[in-house]
Amino acid sequence: MLRFASVLLFVLFATSLIAQQGHGHGHNHTGDRAIRFPDTEAYLTLVCDFHQHTVFSDGSVWPDVRIQESLRDSVDAIAMTEHLEYQPHADDIPHPDRNRSNVLAEEYARPYDMIVIPGAEITRDLPPGHVNAIFIEDANKLLGGDSLAVFAEAHRQGAFTFWNHPNWVAQRPDGVARLTPFHRDLIERGWLHGIEVVNDLTISKEALQIALDHDLAIMGTSDIHGLIDYQFEIGEGGHRPVTLVLTEERSAAAIRRALDARRTVAWFENTLVGKEANVRAVVAASVSVARAYYRGPSSIADVVIRNDSDADYLVENLSGYSLQTDLGILRFPPHSETVVSVMTDEQLPSFDLRLRFLNAVTAPEERLEMTLPVVVE
Ligand code: ZN
Repeated sequence: MLRFASVLLFVLFATSLIAQQGHGHGHNHTGDRAIRFPDTEAYLTLVCDFHQHTVFSDGSVWPDVRIQESLRDSVDAIAMTEHLEYQPHADDIPHPDRNRSNVLAEEYARPYDMIVIPGAEITRDLPPGHVNAIFIEDANKLLGGDSLAVFAEAHRQGAFTFWNHPNWVAQRPDGVARLTPFHRDLIERGWLHGIEVVNDLTISKEALQIALDHDLAIMGTSDIHGLIDYQFEIGEGGHRPVTLVLTEERSAAAIRRALDARRTVAWFENTLVGKEANVRAVVAASVSVARAYYRGPSSIADVVIRNDSDADYLVENLSGYSLQTDLGILRFPPHSETVVSVMTDEQLPSFDLRLRFLNAVTAPEERLEMTLPVVVE
């Protein structure tokens, strides 16, 4: 399981440092498991999980459980993506129509405001490996044949396709995501549109680089087979990995347009991963200066920073000003206000806080930098 080892080590280090300083806030979800990120200035922020399994392939639950889990997590849009070529429950649960999981999910979701997008998982050896096709017309027609013919059919159906877990140890023993000539051919044909940078409990910086190099949509999915609650330790404050899709409206068609425009951010273990413009839009919508004031005649400005998102932001102070509250690493806990005491040397009517968001990743070794303008009362 490849991870951003260096980031995580740093995050662990920084977190322990903060705890030692007595700033520890504990878990922030306090029973509220809904995944919440604000809409951006230009788009709605929809929470999507487009890789899920049920008993209709190798999952352990009926599709209604996926709907119930998604309701609890406030997931806006989901896809059932059953393995086409791997059907371990077929003797017990025969289902000649491979669209059945999608049909049931759509029925269960209908009373709720949840979008179900029909999908299937093309399940092959490398290349191409496992690829999800969503926005499909008929899963049955994606069965059998050589791999290129299956992608041609997915393309004919108007599918959006993304390469699943390209870092999977069963197919990549070194855990490194690498394109094959077959993938390059698919990309050139416009038949492969995205890649999972985040899958289940793993994240791949090589997959992120591939997405950036080839303009693929950056996807994060649960790939859930058992229960979301157990796999992602929801009771302990965990969250499932999802893709935040930045859309013009709340509809399947708008999600499709956003995927085609690559407006996605993966949300994984308290980390946002995406193209810079998308990550910037989400962080800018999340973090704002609520107010700022000097303490009496002092030149120490108390800046109240609001965080309206689920992200527990770890932030490095690049402003050049010393802080009275931190030695350089700040924390903006989710859905709360944090006071940062900035030593500006003299009372200023306004100043800039230049910040680096350590858990907002825009390239394998890049973290989002953003300036917060502060206007003092
Ligand atoms: Zn899968």
